[in-house]
Amino acid sequence: MLAISGSPAFLISEALRGAGAVVTDRAGRRFLLDTDPRGELAPRDIVARTIWQELARTGEKSVLLDCRPVGGDTAVRFPAIAARCIDHGIDITATPIPIAPAAHYMIGGIRTDIDGATSVPGLYACGEVASTGVHGANRLASNSLLEGAVFGPRTMEAALRGLAEVAPSALPVADVGSAPLEDPPAAEARSRIARVMGRDCGVVRHGKGLRAALGELDDIVATPIGSLSGRSAHLSAVAAYCIANAALYREESRGAHYRDDHPDTSHQWHGVTVMHTTRGATTHDRNVAADH
Ligand SMILES: Cc1cc2nc3c(=O)[nH]c(=O)nc-3n(C[C@H](O)[C@H](O)[C@H](O)COP(=O)(O)OP(=O)(O)OC[C@H]3O[C@@H](n4cnc5c(N)ncnc54)[C@H](O)[C@@H]3O)c2cc1C
Repeated sequence: MLAISGSPAFLISEALRGAGAVVTDRAGRRFLLDTDPRGELAPRDIVARTIWQELARTGEKSVLLDCRPVGGDTAVRFPAIAARCIDHGIDITATPIPIAPAAHYMIGGIRTDIDGATSVPGLYACGEVASTGVHGANRLASNSLLEGAVFGPRTMEAALRGLAEVAPSALPVADVGSAPLEDPPAAEARSRIARVMGRDCGVVRHGKGLRAALGELDDIVATPIGSLSGRSAHLSAVAAYCIANAALYREESRGAHYRDDHPDTSHQWHGVTVMHTTRGATTHDRNVAADH
């Protein structure tokens, strides 16, 4: 992603690396080659992790993507990126772009069958929120497009068929009453979740950090927030809890999931982890059983 303080998140597409752009440190050194001879063309998790480690080592907030090797027509081939960079005073044909890794999808989600049905009768899921099994340990570029094209129609058709079987009144409906849309504790909860997930559940994970994350996320879920946005933040914290829990449970490294206390891939962990979470209505305690 573009890494300019205060600018909104913006993807600097990996297609630029595919076209010949190189990642360097401030001195112009291609440090990715120290980790993998494929350099900029190594799989996403390797590139992201090596940049992450370089940032941790140097204390910098970004590394540089030098697009000059792509050629003089870079701005024509990548007009949106060129235009956004110009807004920040960067001519990508002449000046390297500051970049840093950022999470922009999940691998996993609500477990569904091939028609998008979940374990809750009448509830269907597809796309980013679902775990349809098409992503493996490392997402491929644009795989979500195919996922949407295949599972979108399948899920819609199954949901329409299901309408005949599940009365709408059988589904739980949240009582939102007259709660305000937003309040300061909701904003605070959202930024806490982002901080915890970035620190402990990101590119490089460790058992100790994951345990700390679980404690903090539990605390967020246990603290009542009155606004609608606060309830939404609670749900985000529950999803974040599931991610941290699955990451702690999986004691190996595989694709985008990297544990520096378990850096090797183990055949024992081949396959998906399914987590069942049961929460008390008011106590927020969980009974989590996971199997793989
Ligand atoms: C920068 C970036 C790069 C990515 N690169 C890749 C990649 O290379 N490969 C890959 O596989 N995936 C990639 N992804 C992930 C991919 O984009 C998503 O998985 C995919 O777009 C999800 O599609 P979706 O339809 O499920 O969700 P979305 O595209 O998020 O659509 C959800 C829609 O629901 C609407 N909505 C939300 N709340 C409500 C509400 N309450 N009521 C009504 N509507 C609502 C939203 O406005 C939105 O239009 C990338 C994502 C980003 C951000």
